[in-house]
Order: sequence, then structure tokens, then C-alpha cells
Amino acid sequence: MLEDSHYYFQKAADVLKLSERLREIIWTPIRTVKVDLVIDDDDGELQHYQGFRVQHNKARGPMKGGLRYHPAMDEDHAAALANLMTWKTAIVDVPFGGAKGGINCDPSAMSDNELNKLTRRFVEQMKEIIGPTIDIPAPDVNTNAKVMGWIMDEYSKYEGFSPGVVTGKPLDLFGSEGRDEATGRGIMIVLDEALKSRGKSWNDIRVAVQGFGNVGSNAARLIDEQGANIIAVADHLGGVSNDDGLDIDSLISWVAEHRTVKGFPGGVAFDNTEIITWNADVLIPAALENAITENNVSEVKADIIIEGANGPTTPAAHEALVKRGVLVVPDILANAGGVTVSYFEWAQNIQQFRWKKDRVDEELTHRMREAYAAVRDVAEKENIDMRIAAFVLGIRRVGRAATSRIHVPEEVDF
Ligand code: NAD
Repeated sequence: MLEDSHYYFQKAADVLKLSERLREIIWTPIRTVKVDLVIDDDDGELQHYQGFRVQHNKARGPMKGGLRYHPAMDEDHAAALANLMTWKTAIVDVPFGGAKGGINCDPSAMSDNELNKLTRRFVEQMKEIIGPTIDIPAPDVNTNAKVMGWIMDEYSKYEGFSPGVVTGKPLDLFGSEGRDEATGRGIMIVLDEALKSRGKSWNDIRVAVQGFGNVGSNAARLIDEQGANIIAVADHLGGVSNDDGLDIDSLISWVAEHRTVKGFPGGVAFDNTEIITWNADVLIPAALENAITENNVSEVKADIIIEGANGPTTPAAHEALVKRGVLVVPDILANAGGVTVSYFEWAQNIQQFRWKKDRVDEELTHRMREAYAAVRDVAEKENIDMRIAAFVLGIRRVGRAATSRIHVPEEVDF
């Protein structure tokens, strides 16, 4: 995954005509921390896991990025995702840098009690390098508001009352209205922009969604509300389709009870691998990385792809899609709604103030539309695709902030 991000980074650096030395400096994370986390499980056995935090860049502000609990989590994933966070926060113009972390555990095989202990152990080991003005974690795959609440509580034991140490917290514990659905709402907003640019309207489109967790389910619900038909959804256990449009509210209730879309009675079951090549106008990969690859890209039917997940498209697949004229709204723009509302949450925490949901939605909509327009302008001016344009915009903003902090030779120009 790190190689994939590096590929796009290099292409953007070529557009910006950056020297090898500058590329190396901007690409390298400022800090990588790996810790061993020992807990006793519910059977009284000792278990140990590895925790990671990669802090990539802080030129534009405290670092920001999710925590992922997944067996495949490792340093390489954390580094790639931290790097994406740096450009993402710059693209939506929030005052943060980029970081990412996680634990290589499988939450589906653990009790809440074990997850609570493991999360607290992680905070205990990381407390010196996180904080409201240093690095502010947030939810990612398999972490949620409950986990964020535990992090705030544990950190506050050492540092005193610190709601701003983490975002995506429960509403009852200094969370923000609208944070839960923010990434999905951001996806709906950029899809609205993409439809305008292709002369299409909500009623024209049939949408396929891979992943029905926080991002996929909220995106599907909000897109459904605009009048589009969600005709296929898949998760890690299976898929369900309905050519007349799935009843998304019922599907959400089904998943709340059964933890999967599999078996939903309001549609026809299919093998989850088929979702990427579904006969739909819009495809939203909102699960994990490497969903669209050289092996399935020629079969992709959608002509608009909104990347809800981080890194769902490999570079070879990206090139093939660009060549075919498919409009791909890249992850670092499309899924930036989450970090944007995380910024609103952090700002509310610091001011000890609460915003109403309408205000959150309005400000999010404004920022996402501005970011889309800024990326599109770079794409048009430089005659490049939206992904490379997003990297160019992100690197340029970070580079300009970094070089404004220090004395640099005149030839360093972003
Ligand atoms: P989540 O854990 O809530 O949901 C993940 C979903 O993906 C689940 O429905 C799971 O069943 C599905 N999935 C896993 N493997 C699959 C497979 N092989 N085929 C089909 N579906 C599969 O996670 P999330 O928070 O919704 O995050 C999803 C993606 O969005 C990740 O790439 C994450 O980094 C990214 N993201 C999340 C946020 C956020 O605010 N949560 C913000 C930005 C980006």
C-alpha cells in the first residue's frame, strides 16, 4: 500500500517539479512508534499485540488520523495511511497534519472487556506522543465512538480533562453532532459535484456500494435520500441486490441486528467479489484497500467512482480507469468529510462550545464543495486526472506551510 501512495506522490511531485531531496524530505514520516501491548484475556491467558502510530507531517497543525483495529495492521499500512492524511487535511484546508495508527488485533474475536483493556494499554504507551495539540486520533476500520470514549478517559487520567485528544467521541462525551455520518455525507456531496460535471442528476443513477460499515451505510442512506437507486451492496460476508433499489433503512436495521448484509430478505444474494464489476452507473468502494485492481478493472462498468475507502484502487487500475475516461474522485478528497467534522469536533472541544447539526452539515457541505472545486481547477489547469490533482494541491499547501516556517533557499518553490 505504501508503494501505491508513493507512485501517486511521485507523479504529483513531477507536476510540481520537486527535487529528489525535497521529495525525500516531504515523503518521510517525522516519527514512527511501535509498541508491544500485553493484556490478560477473559480466560486469564496473557495475549500480546502490536500497536502502531506513524506521524507523517505537522507543517499545517497537530497531526490527525484514525486508529484501525485489524489483523493485517502493520507499520507499512500505518505509514501509507498517515501519508494520505497529510494531503487529505490540506485538501479540505483544516489546520492539521497527518498521522495514522492501529493495533494488529481482530476485534470480532474479542470481548468488549478485552478491547477496552487493549485500548487503554495503547494509550498508556502512546500518551507522550498524542494530545490535543500534538496528534489527535479518530475512528477508522473496526473502531468507533465507544473506543474513542475509552481513549479520552484513559488519556485524561494522566493529563487531566482532555476531550480534544481524540475525535469521533460519543455525543454524550463531547462528540460532535454529525460526526458519525460525516464521511458518508462528504461522499454524497462530492458525488453531487461529480454528477453535475457529467450532466447527470440523482434520478438517473444506479449505485453499487462495497462495504456497509460506517462509511458505506451512511453514504448509501444519504445518496438514497437524494433520489438515487442503490441497487447492490456487499460486505465481507456477502452481497445483496435489487434492480428496483434496495430499501436502505430496512437494510441498515438488518445489519444492526445481524452484523452483515448477507441474508437480507429485500433483495437477491450474490458473491461479494462481484460488487466491483456490478452493472451500475456509480461505484463506491467503501471497505478496504486494493478493491479495484488490474484483475477486475477491465470489467468495471461504472463511469463514476467515488472512493470511500482509503486506497481502494491500485495504480495499474487507476491508469486504466483514467485512460477509459472514468471519473474517479480519489480517497483523499472523497472521504475527507470525516476529518473535516473531526476538526469541527476538536474546535468545539477546545472552545467548550456545541454546534447544532445544521451548522455542522452546512459547514461540511461548504468545505467539501470548495475542496472539490480546488482539485478540479488544478486538474484542468495542469491537464491531469483528479487523483494526481488532489496530491498536487495537498503537497503544494503542505510545502508552502513548511517553507513559511523556516528559511529556505529561493529555488525551493511549491
Ligand atoms: P467499518 O469497519 O465500519 O466497515 C468496513 C466495512 O467493509 C464492513 O461492512 C465490512 O464488512 C466491509 N468489508 C471488509 N472486507 C470486505 C470485503 N472483502 N468485501 C466487501 N466488504 C468488505 O469501517 P469504515 O469506518 O466504514 O471504513 C471503511 C473505509 O473507509 C476504510 O478504508 C477507512 O480507512 C475509510 N475511511 C473511514 C472513515 C471514517 O470516518 N470511518 C473516514 C475516512 C476513510
